[in-house]
Amino acid sequence: MRRAEHPLSSLSQQRPDTMDAFWMPFSANRQFKASPRLLVRAEGMYYHDVDDRPVLDAAAGLWCCNAGHARPRIVQAIQQQAATLDFAPPFQMGTPLPFVLAQRLAALAPAPLNHVFFSNSGSEAVDTAMKIVLGYHRLRGEGQRTRFIGREKAYHGVGFGGMSIGGLPNNRKQFGSLLAGSDFLRHTLDLQRNAFSPGLPRHGAELAEDLERLIALHDASTIAAVFVEPVAGSAGVILPAPGYLQRLREICDQHGILLVFDEVITGFGRVGNAFAAQRFGVTPDLMTLAKGLTNGAVPMGATLVSDAVHAAFMQGPPAAIELFHGYTYSAHPLACAAALATLDTYAEEHLFERAIELGEYWQSALHSLRGLPHVVDIRNFGLIGAVELMPRKDAPGARGYEVFERCFRDGSLLVRCTGDVIALSPPLIIDKAQIDRIVEILGDMINATA
Ligand code: PLP
Repeated sequence: MRRAEHPLSSLSQQRPDTMDAFWMPFSANRQFKASPRLLVRAEGMYYHDVDDRPVLDAAAGLWCCNAGHARPRIVQAIQQQAATLDFAPPFQMGTPLPFVLAQRLAALAPAPLNHVFFSNSGSEAVDTAMKIVLGYHRLRGEGQRTRFIGREKAYHGVGFGGMSIGGLPNNRKQFGSLLAGSDFLRHTLDLQRNAFSPGLPRHGAELAEDLERLIALHDASTIAAVFVEPVAGSAGVILPAPGYLQRLREICDQHGILLVFDEVITGFGRVGNAFAAQRFGVTPDLMTLAKGLTNGAVPMGATLVSDAVHAAFMQGPPAAIELFHGYTYSAHPLACAAALATLDTYAEEHLFERAIELGEYWQSALHSLRGLPHVVDIRNFGLIGAVELMPRKDAPGARGYEVFERCFRDGSLLVRCTGDVIALSPPLIIDKAQIDRIVEILGDMINATA
């Protein structure tokens, strides 16, 4: 459909007159504004750009739109909620939907994760988890447990908490010393031993023993929690070897350390179950969620908390506030409505099973790119993929950016580049022909890139 015929011909469909005022996040603002890529609408597997060119979405936006775009049920739920109850104060007041939604999330999650604290983003969900962890240890008389263990190359958002346990140097270096005392497990990316492994890498489970090294260094009595992404996304898709997460769980249990899974990207079907915790058979004490929770339609984060951790807070007098934490928009009515409609959509269309049903097809399609110029690794798990390219000498990230750019401009395909890794995470509604198309375009664009 040409732009002129589209019913929503409004500001949101047009090129802005000037782009100066908006400081874009995680973007090269000057480069972008010199040659902008503007998306104006979306439906199903496709975006449309400002010239009304359809763009196949191989990124689910930004790991968000697992059910595809503009799903009518979600759209209607948001519209109806906005017209019925736009906002209500969340402190010492309530609305019905967050109670219903929390129950639904608890039913989806592994057994002891029965309590849900709502926020507005993955970053807030992580910082909330960190505060709950600290409060928990203090309530149990172990207030000296203040140290967090993250992992190299991890991404846990951009709050000062999440940044402090995140292991991406670019995200840290502008901001000083961050939260004191954090330390880091080694990452599990091993191109020497695991390059081009289909599915989970064979080698690297022993890297979980790194936690013992940190415990020996700091003493377990100082460590509050270990935070990991079951599959790291922002560093370019880093997968755990079988047994790695299990071993982290065992070591945490031996030492009274809480284990937190950051499932902001792995949640809601991305790896073939509701959550990666279930796919890997490892249950954390807390879990952070966002993105696919509302199919990306309204900002929302959630921190799931085990019965044991929650119970520690529920001991004092009933009139006492148990946790001095919350956001004006915690459990926002629009976000709750979007999330409930999203969960209905996932269930009705059996979308959590899609990543397993399509997993083998996805795997062999992606691995057909092996042998193309500059391709040094291909990784896949569930409906996640990564094609790692050899960095250009003296210009790390430039080759990845060029492939991403070419995909959008010449291939009408949205992928994500993180450094020289092309990351793929299509909506779970994708079909086999669309998988073929993604791989064909990506292959052409890699071939066209010097
Ligand atoms: N944690 C993980 C694992 C993520 O991938 C992200 C975002 O990509 C975040 C946290 C931060 O989420 P948000 O951007 O919603 O703050």
